[in-house]
Amino acid sequence: MSDTKSHLIPALPSADPQTWLGVMGGGQLGRMFAQAAQSMGYHVAVLEPADDCPAGQVAQRLVNAGYEDTAGLDALAAQCVAVTTEFENVPADSLSRLAQYVFVAPNAHGVSVAQDRIAEKSFFVACAGKSGVMPAPHKVIASHADVDAIADDLLPGILKTVRMGYDGKGQVRVKTRDEVRAAFDAMGQVTCLLEKMLPLAYEVSVLTARGADGESVVYPIAENVHRDGILFTTTVPGPNVSAATATKAQDAARAIVAELGYVGVLCIEFFVLTDGTLVVNEMAPRPHNSGHYTIDACVTSQFAQQVRAMARLPLGDVRQHSPAVMLNILGDIWFDGESVTEPAWDQVVALPGACLHLYGKDDPRRGRKMGHVTFVAPTLEEAQAQLQAACRILGIPQ
Ligand code: ATP
Ligand code: MG
Repeated sequence: MSDTKSHLIPALPSADPQTWLGVMGGGQLGRMFAQAAQSMGYHVAVLEPADDCPAGQVAQRLVNAGYEDTAGLDALAAQCVAVTTEFENVPADSLSRLAQYVFVAPNAHGVSVAQDRIAEKSFFVACAGKSGVMPAPHKVIASHADVDAIADDLLPGILKTVRMGYDGKGQVRVKTRDEVRAAFDAMGQVTCLLEKMLPLAYEVSVLTARGADGESVVYPIAENVHRDGILFTTTVPGPNVSAATATKAQDAARAIVAELGYVGVLCIEFFVLTDGTLVVNEMAPRPHNSGHYTIDACVTSQFAQQVRAMARLPLGDVRQHSPAVMLNILGDIWFDGESVTEPAWDQVVALPGACLHLYGKDDPRRGRKMGHVTFVAPTLEEAQAQLQAACRILGIPQ
């Protein structure tokens, strides 16, 4: 690959249809990205070590290689005009390598801040003057001396590993310094962050996207309910969200994405406390599970938006045309005791406004994200009623 190509990147025009877009990672986010890209006329190449994967099933090319495999990365770069990632733990060095040859969005900097809870919290604190929101009070725990030095008002708290946490994994709730010490030891003394346990009223997320030209868009605020640390439902508009909270969170998202100098789709999670305070929790440098409702309820889905950002096209209209409730489908509902049974999709899709998305995973496991259903309706109440009907059909407790 010629060295001069990298110098041309800032001046590159938008990517033409029929050119190739690349994605690091072969999961469901990569699959839905590929589907959006293909519907706009692009070809998609996926880099993923697993040979049967949700994104690989739909992409025109699967580069079967590890995320740090230089030959695989170079093959992706040689084929594609732009590369994105579908998972946040993609090695930042791999994105930097790709960026020598092709346009990479988001870039290694944005991804590396979101990968590391310490860098992420420091970034949130540093831009609080512009965003108007602070993260939870926190302290880095890297040694027993750090445990001894914990201030009383940080407890009770949650001890979170700095890297690789998701879906509530790598987190322990702690009440005393002894419990922090025990949890820190149990996690093998990897560097952790202790966060003060806050009184949450509800949780929201804001999806935003920023183009290479610095223009940004912000989607409607989404209200999220988690079960066992995994997203259960996303409701938009959120039944608890006041207009003032929505505006504050959207303004914060706009400031954060600009401050990060980010290109692509970024999802920011916030807590709303019982006294109404908005607290920024974390960000995902990619389309997000809480943004899946945009496929069926917004003019431009989060995946189409990612395509636009990386292809350097104008960003799309984020307008929501229908109230929506998104239900995550976990592998649990395939199990009835020991036996594995396909859920009654015929009954679910018979519900008015039900949009079913399954990710092509053939082995259901408990806690595994197998798909989602979005219910769109003329009113939020109708969408919520369809959610309840679907939960009854699927045997999901309400
Ligand atoms: P994700 O699946 O979003 O990547 P994660 O494992 O990275 O999750 P967090 O989002 O930080 O972790 O935390 C998981 C959940 O734990 C939150 O959605 C929230 O319900 C709860 N939680 C986290 N931090 C706090 C806190 N400081 N105070 C109260 N509850 C918290
Ligand atoms: Mg989270």
